[in-house]
Amino acid sequence: MRSKTKMVHGGITRDEQTGAVSVPIYQVSTYKQDGVGNFRGYEYSRTGNPTRHALETVIADLENGTHGFAFGSGMAAITTVMMLLDSGDHVVLTDDVYGGSYRLMTKVLNRFDLDHSFIDTSDPAKVKHAIQPNTKALYIETPTNPLLKITDLKKMAEIAKEHDLLLIVDNTFATPYWQQPLSLGADIVLHSATKYIGGHSDVVAGLVAVNSAELAEKVHFLQNSVGAVLGPQDSWLLMRGIKTLALRMEAIESNTKKLASYLVGHDKVSTIYYPGLESHLGHEIAKNQSTGFGGMISFDVGSGARAEKVLERVKYFTLAESLGAVESLISLPAKMTHASIPADRRAELGITDGLIRVSVGIEDAEDLIEDLEQALTE
Ligand SMILES: *Cc1c(COP(=O)(O)O)cnc(C)c1O
Repeated sequence: MRSKTKMVHGGITRDEQTGAVSVPIYQVSTYKQDGVGNFRGYEYSRTGNPTRHALETVIADLENGTHGFAFGSGMAAITTVMMLLDSGDHVVLTDDVYGGSYRLMTKVLNRFDLDHSFIDTSDPAKVKHAIQPNTKALYIETPTNPLLKITDLKKMAEIAKEHDLLLIVDNTFATPYWQQPLSLGADIVLHSATKYIGGHSDVVAGLVAVNSAELAEKVHFLQNSVGAVLGPQDSWLLMRGIKTLALRMEAIESNTKKLASYLVGHDKVSTIYYPGLESHLGHEIAKNQSTGFGGMISFDVGSGARAEKVLERVKYFTLAESLGAVESLISLPAKMTHASIPADRRAELGITDGLIRVSVGIEDAEDLIEDLEQALTE
């Protein structure tokens, strides 16, 4: 089955009993047992729920995995996956990972002696150099936020194999429509499904997929033990979102490419970060490992004051954190998503005060361009 078909027909997509073409929302916590210990596949909804299970089979399918897992948020998914590791272990992570992942490693899991190094994983030599005797996992985000840096996943898989590390990939930005890390050698792929997979700014959720039964058993044990599961309503909303994921990603990417070409020629815009541009450092790798470049674009307008003016003036770009929805969202990383990072660290990463990040939506590209044009005009 090809990707677009999988979005509609992948996993469990209907109700066998009634023939309903949409999976019912099983709003239930417990299940009648036919005899003591004799139940029909479900005993308690933290352990398993038919609506959540249907979603879990879909994400497994989309990511070319064997097993999927749904969680109450992206962070719940990431935390549960990190519980695979032991106290005293060490993880090498991409240096500009999502702020919440950074916080989890540096302010929560560090208290349980899970050690970490944040490394520019776009450089495989630096990754190799960061590996210690107690390193057990590589945690990669590609493309990253907000500079859209690209890491070569096949290279990471080679390094992981050589050193017997678990390769974990946060695939939120690329989505399984453009990129399937399990097929490139990753062991675990995870998502903030709050973003593109849900796609309508109406659900907070996390997803995980793996392609080994052994790992699946461990993740399920943790999902059930930690208990940060996704409810049936939200599971249903994600399945509904997934049905149009391919359409949305095509529309979003087409708009993003048009916006990128417009910005390239603009005299008020200095640097543009979009992996779809040939000038982008990771362009070739992105082209090799993904079938599309996605809908996130960042650009520098020179100063924080000008950036704030642009954000005030736009009409069709909603000033908000988050990303991946049908409506275009605009933000100022230095003052919003990355405000908690110290200024000198931000400068090191290249997150300037004038850097604007856009999550492109599915509106008419002409309207989006006209809107940016009037916002950039002094
Ligand atoms: C939003 C996000 C997360 C966290 O997901 P939540 O659903 O907000 O908990 C993790 N990784 C990336 C790349 C994200 O954008």
